[in-house]
Amino acid sequence: MADQLIRATAAEGGIRAVGVITTRIAEEARQRHKLSYVATAALGRAMSAGLLLVSSMKRAESRVNIRIKGNGPLGGLLVDAGLDGTVRGYVENPAVELPPNELGKLDVGNAVGRDGYLYVVRDVGYGYPYSSTVELISGEIGDDITNYLATSEQTPSALIVGVFVGAEGVTAAGGILIQVLPKAARDETLVEILESRIAKLSGFTPLLQSGKTLPEIFELLLGDMGLVILPDIHMVRFHCGCSFNRVLGALKMLGEAELQDMIEKDEGAEATCHFCGEIYQASGDELAKLIDDLRAESV
Ligand code: ZN
Repeated sequence: MADQLIRATAAEGGIRAVGVITTRIAEEARQRHKLSYVATAALGRAMSAGLLLVSSMKRAESRVNIRIKGNGPLGGLLVDAGLDGTVRGYVENPAVELPPNELGKLDVGNAVGRDGYLYVVRDVGYGYPYSSTVELISGEIGDDITNYLATSEQTPSALIVGVFVGAEGVTAAGGILIQVLPKAARDETLVEILESRIAKLSGFTPLLQSGKTLPEIFELLLGDMGLVILPDIHMVRFHCGCSFNRVLGALKMLGEAELQDMIEKDEGAEATCHFCGEIYQASGDELAKLIDDLRAESV
């Protein structure tokens, strides 16, 4: 099934649900950043979470940034997801590998680390972005995002995110977010019911691998609660807005002396985009042109 995002409601609008499939996105991230198994799982989970979080925003330019900084060997992790369906991200130490945890699963919790912080920035495209920080709970990412939603955004939520990565790469990835809105929140047991239903799923990726679609997964979780699946299917993809021109712009800001130094020592410059791993090469001639531009501007 192609990478996509689908929304649903239930309980006469008191429950909002969103599901995303990110199999190709996670695989593209794995290849671009040469991610280990556990790094693929960590970044893939966070990219799904970013797309799920941004889906509740209204303005077309809206973006969510998720930064996770734990005390584990993965270092830091950053994801940037847009309401336009684009997402990108990276981890600090992509080659870190850990043995499976006691459940035989990829040990994302220990790779990220259980002590540290989760930062979420919601940017609607103008004014000051809304940002908030919570302490990590488990480093497993799903739990940490759920805790963030409950404490910082006061929206009781049940969330599941998963990535299955084998020798041939990522074969299933995605997640589901179910939120209980204020009009239904008086029913405090509702979130607990939803959480226990999600817990019984025993993971998101096995459902995808067994051929279940997002509407079928919604049906499993909310079928008896007045489920309404919204008809729009939103495509989602790995995309980074970097370009050679932007790299040249950044190089230009280094100033004439530094550029001259690069021309003499390296006969050019090489820059790698953190977010997507793209490598840009600027030749000595291109750097010389930047110096000409700087001189022309200063006249
Ligand atoms: Zn890039």
